[in-house]
Amino acid sequence: MGIKVCKFGGTSMADGNIIRAAADIVNADPERRFVVVSAPGKRFGGDTKVTDLLYRCHELASSGEDFGEPFSKIRARFEGMEKELGKEMGMRAALDGIEAEIGAGAGRDYCASRGEYLAARVMAAVLDVPFVDAKDIILFSADGTLSEETYPLASSVLRKYPRAVIPGFYGRGADGEIRTFSRGGSDISGAVVARAVKASLYENWTDVSGFFACDPRIVPSPECIREVSYQELRELSYMGANVLHSESIFPVRSAGIPIRICNTFRPADEGTLIVSAANRKRRGSAVTGVAGKQDFTVIFLEKSMMNGEVGFAAKVLGVLSRYGVSFEHLPTGIDTLSVVIDNHYLQGGILEKIVEDIRREVHPDSVRTHEGIALVATVGHGMANTIGTSARLFKALSDAGINVIMIDQGSSELNIIVGVDNADCAGCIRAIYREFFG
Ligand code: ADP
Ligand code: ASP
Ligand code: MG
Repeated sequence: MGIKVCKFGGTSMADGNIIRAAADIVNADPERRFVVVSAPGKRFGGDTKVTDLLYRCHELASSGEDFGEPFSKIRARFEGMEKELGKEMGMRAALDGIEAEIGAGAGRDYCASRGEYLAARVMAAVLDVPFVDAKDIILFSADGTLSEETYPLASSVLRKYPRAVIPGFYGRGADGEIRTFSRGGSDISGAVVARAVKASLYENWTDVSGFFACDPRIVPSPECIREVSYQELRELSYMGANVLHSESIFPVRSAGIPIRICNTFRPADEGTLIVSAANRKRRGSAVTGVAGKQDFTVIFLEKSMMNGEVGFAAKVLGVLSRYGVSFEHLPTGIDTLSVVIDNHYLQGGILEKIVEDIRREVHPDSVRTHEGIALVATVGHGMANTIGTSARLFKALSDAGINVIMIDQGSSELNIIVGVDNADCAGCIRAIYREFFG
């Protein structure tokens, strides 16, 4: 019998009734032995995720302000669940302890992690299976990345349990303190557990019936992709298709464990299977999906004979690394080089300093910057051997009146990335979707 690891996201943990439905899903299949949960998410539009409330509590507490208001909302959610589920789960004492820790100056990651901690205790009580704390199985290295020591540790601990519930999102740092992954990181925790227990399948339960060819908030009811490769998923999720964290493929890909995206609210739906490109049985059209992300800056450099100047790009990148800035893309021409940077690196006037240093060090003929750019990626293994894909794509954009500011095609021919104005992001995604799926 295989082992399945199930991860339930924030919407699947939002209140007692949904948690009961999630527990029924787990109980329906004896292979579903390990369950990883997120903190409760939004119950309705305008609601606040428990993780956001916890970040707010920490922010207020660390500036000496009263955090009673956001904390009372967290308390109400967990105590409310206890009532809805009709079971005493020790929430009150646990919440009192957490409130005291936040008041006593607990760290930001510790505070943020408590949503997952409490949610896992609730799920463990509902399923009546042991709770295993993520801090005892998931380890981070001193540089904040997942430590490889996690796998032997997690596997030796979890081997003792026929079934267990584990909180997502966090683990223990090299200094012994709680550390979290980046936002949405419970998806990574689920993948780590799946690899540690040598699962045959990692089920990721969420609020949509699979991975769509584009964001359902941009195109209503887009086509569902039945099978997608790990690389395609990574490209699309990194570019904004955030149904699954873009880093969650790494633990499972190396072990060949497939991921299935399933809908907690429609458990009978087929969902999407994520496998290696070689194992992908059902291939769709040339394009698998399209996704976009806003708020990038492009630095355009021009210099005659740039192609013959040894070390030009290295010097430009040297400037970036001095400012601790990494780049997203680096499209080049014979005499041109563009550097695409995520705006979060460029706070506090850093862009001006970078441009000044580039001018001084490589003496370009011209430097231009364009802020407020969105990157839209069209992704699919099939594009490499389908003639005319890019012609169709650019015609669709010109017919829609969208001005393309930058073009980059990955060397694997897995994607074509265009840079457009932030304001054109949704329109660009819609035009590409219409062309290939519409
Ligand atoms: P969870 O709380 O279960 O982790 P998330 O909110 O992180 O769920 O991810 C699910 C959401 O991702 C969906 O509700 C959907 O709005 C959004 N989403 C964005 N792009 C896509 C896509 N290409 N396919 C499916 N969902 C997408
Ligand atoms: N609760 C965390 C967040 O909101 C992690 C997760 O849900 O995956 O980002
Ligand atoms: Mg998520």
